[in-house]
Amino acid sequence: MQRLLAPEPLPDLTSYQAAGGGAGLSRAREIGPTAVIEAVRAAGLRGRGGAGFPTGIKWHGTARAEGPKAVVANAAEGEPGTVKDRTLMTHNPYAVLEGVAIAGLAIGADTAYIGIKAKFTDAISRLEGAAAEMSQMLEGLDVRIVEGPDDYLFGVETAMLEVIEGKDPLPRLVPPYIAGITRPDGAEVATMVNNVETLANVGGIVAHGSEWYREIGTDQSPGSMIFTVSGDVRTPVVTELPLGTPLSYLIYAAGGGLAAGRRAKLVVSGVSNRPLAAAELDTPMSFEAMAAIGSGLGAGGFIVYDDTTCAVEVGAALSGFLQVGSCGQCPPCKLGTTEFTEGFGQLLEGKGTLEDVEILIAWLSRVTDANRCGLGAGQQALARGILDTFAAEVVACLEGRCPGHRGLLPPSPTDHDPTSRRDVIVFSG
Ligand code: SF4
Repeated sequence: MQRLLAPEPLPDLTSYQAAGGGAGLSRAREIGPTAVIEAVRAAGLRGRGGAGFPTGIKWHGTARAEGPKAVVANAAEGEPGTVKDRTLMTHNPYAVLEGVAIAGLAIGADTAYIGIKAKFTDAISRLEGAAAEMSQMLEGLDVRIVEGPDDYLFGVETAMLEVIEGKDPLPRLVPPYIAGITRPDGAEVATMVNNVETLANVGGIVAHGSEWYREIGTDQSPGSMIFTVSGDVRTPVVTELPLGTPLSYLIYAAGGGLAAGRRAKLVVSGVSNRPLAAAELDTPMSFEAMAAIGSGLGAGGFIVYDDTTCAVEVGAALSGFLQVGSCGQCPPCKLGTTEFTEGFGQLLEGKGTLEDVEILIAWLSRVTDANRCGLGAGQQALARGILDTFAAEVVACLEGRCPGHRGLLPPSPTDHDPTSRRDVIVFSG
């Protein structure tokens, strides 16, 4: 079942149209903005960037705003363990651009920005080529590709708006629906930000209807999602699966399982959720099932760590990523991520004390104080998961019995393609 990802990249617009692409935009022009938004709402499409917010509600709210409007497609993928947006854009840039055009029509936008890291050169080149081929289809919408920095925060909605305005990727106090883009002439623009995978789903929904979209997935998480699995699996892959598919299928069927004799100990879905233990691997990959066990689906990127790993080391490495990524505008976030990075590091080295653990526990409730974005909350969920779910390993480290020390480093904020390959394998079994 592949609605968005073909096993091989679509070579041109003709191939896309031969597979039914473009029908959604034609249909959207026939039925008009109100019916388009209703179709997206009825389909139950939820954001694929991590939050899972209902897309139809977001569109409806922006459509009602007065004055000029803009669509922002968030293509600044930066979650460790996730490469799905880059894969989508290189395999099927047409679906992304069709979704951008339908979103623009639905809310009455005259401009669309695609915010993408400048280092994603393959994806940028495919988007530029596709936009040129689709120039007639995109008529009436000024589509601009905005190349931005490597920073993790570039993927935060409000920081992306700053970059579009030519500034650094520093999250704002207020969300895009309260303060959008300000144009150089001072005009305030009602701005709607959607992840690129979210947008790529829209053409199919409008062309085939919400019931078709709901044929796969779950009631609360309809449709498919593009997942990435990496870490200690035999074959790191990107694959599109129905939402609600058990995580174990992704790890063992798509990712080929672990090396002989090894077992999964811990799985993370990015840096902002509670890590999962081995007993939780049959959890369905849906927004509601992951929330029900106190974790989250994130951007659908799962990193598997085997039984040679110490959970405290994973906590130190991923906290280190967040500490580097934190911009420091909110002191509790910068100080807290530093405390967790150093505290988990001390424990790992066998130098941590019970008092140090109590300090970390106290930071759990403070790291989110007065935060402008969700990075502090991500640190809270990650650290709480290590301290609670893997408490036995924290104790083992305190007692000098660390179960493993692999030399894990914080994922690089500038290069975290988890598959470590230029040509991503797309699993379509
Ligand atoms: Fe920066 Fe952290 Fe504040 Fe986000 S929460 S704006 S990353 S300091």
